[in-house]
Amino acid sequence: MDADIGIIGVGTMGSMAMWQLARKGVSVLGFEQFGTGHDRSAASGESRLFRTVYFEGEKYVPLLQDAKKLWSQLEEESGNQLLTLNGGVMIGNPNFEEMKNAMKSIKDFSLEHELLSPEQAKERYPQHHLESEEIMILDKNAGFLRPELSTVSAVARAESLGATVNRYTKIEEIIPDDNGVTIRTKNNEYRVGKVLVTAGPWAGKLLPQLNEIITVKRIVLSWYTPKNINQFMPEQFPVFAHLGDDFKLTGTPTIEGSMVKASNNPTFKDVSSPDQLNREVSIEEIITASNVIKGKIPGLIPHPVRSTAYMDASTPDGHPIVGEVPEIKNTVFMCGFSGHGFKMSPVMGKIAAELLVDGKTNYSIEHLSPQRMVDSASLLS
Ligand SMILES: Cc1cc2nc3c(=O)[nH]c(=O)nc-3n(C[C@H](O)[C@H](O)[C@H](O)COP(=O)(O)OP(=O)(O)OC[C@H]3O[C@@H](n4cnc5c(N)ncnc54)[C@H](O)[C@@H]3O)c2cc1C
Repeated sequence: MDADIGIIGVGTMGSMAMWQLARKGVSVLGFEQFGTGHDRSAASGESRLFRTVYFEGEKYVPLLQDAKKLWSQLEEESGNQLLTLNGGVMIGNPNFEEMKNAMKSIKDFSLEHELLSPEQAKERYPQHHLESEEIMILDKNAGFLRPELSTVSAVARAESLGATVNRYTKIEEIIPDDNGVTIRTKNNEYRVGKVLVTAGPWAGKLLPQLNEIITVKRIVLSWYTPKNINQFMPEQFPVFAHLGDDFKLTGTPTIEGSMVKASNNPTFKDVSSPDQLNREVSIEEIITASNVIKGKIPGLIPHPVRSTAYMDASTPDGHPIVGEVPEIKNTVFMCGFSGHGFKMSPVMGKIAAELLVDGKTNYSIEHLSPQRMVDSASLLS
């Protein structure tokens, strides 16, 4: 046996799982097809939003509250600042499903927040333009994360606790059986007790059973310079999500303090294969985003200084797949984070470690169960 646990894909979730498993004293062997902290998948692009008031559903709130504690723990153990809590604003029509979800998450968990009318929002955050029917929710426990540094910090900490990572090692096949799992690269074979599949956009390539469920989506990020940077520093300008009928604008002030990074992705476009992501952003895409920026954040010069495309794995209902499928032995799946997984990655790492070592977790993750996909599709066929 080469290790108790093998991790396929040491990106966002794989790195956090590796850290949590190493903390439990379990022998863990990770495989990453690129280097750790690389920019070819879902975990790069300088920053990620952290939000607690959650428009994807109130069931995530306890996970996010624990994720926040674990981010602090990783900061302490690594000595690196990973999360900056400068607040977050969510803007939209209160009748939108997402805004209703956000309000429900506030109500159910008494989350620290403020509700601002368009007039109050204009006074407090004049950077944003609101329509008369919109509201602004200020999430006091929001901010931005440093994704590359986070992944690398978790891996380094895991390695210092005894974990091993085989970098630049692509897994071609995993073969689970009753007693363990065989992992194959082009030239080598490894044997582990259990395996965690955290292959992100490549999950469907690795396990064809996932192909029907997981699609790869392209997400564009752009960097804009402000007319007056003093209005757009983290202290004055919380992270934001502005939802409209035909736009979804999210963003953060940049870490080095000269720009705003924003993303307008009302819907994500399909990527035919994760190996063929087109990172070029077309002029049409730039102009569409520029028009939204012009109308909603008029203090930004609406022509980006740079734009790049990234990708994430998505599921039909927008919730990840976390857990085991009884018929696939000794294998835990953790993939399909659908554009919103980074903020919760440390708690996902903890859940993975609990599922792999203890066979159960006390976190409520029924809504993330692979079984819901087995019921609706054919994870087993
Ligand atoms: C542009 C963009 C912006 C986003 N913004 C936010 C945000 O603001 N807030 C938020 O919370 N979330 C955000 N997300 C979502 C979040 O970043 C992702 O959900 C999360 O990073 C997914 O993590 P993962 O571990 O599933 O995938 P990844 O981080 O991509 O990790 C998968 C890893 O597996 C490796 N791998 C795959 N196949 C193999 C193989 N066969 N052998 C070896 N290694 C393999 C890959 O190389 C990769 O390193 C955003 C995503 C994108 C793309």
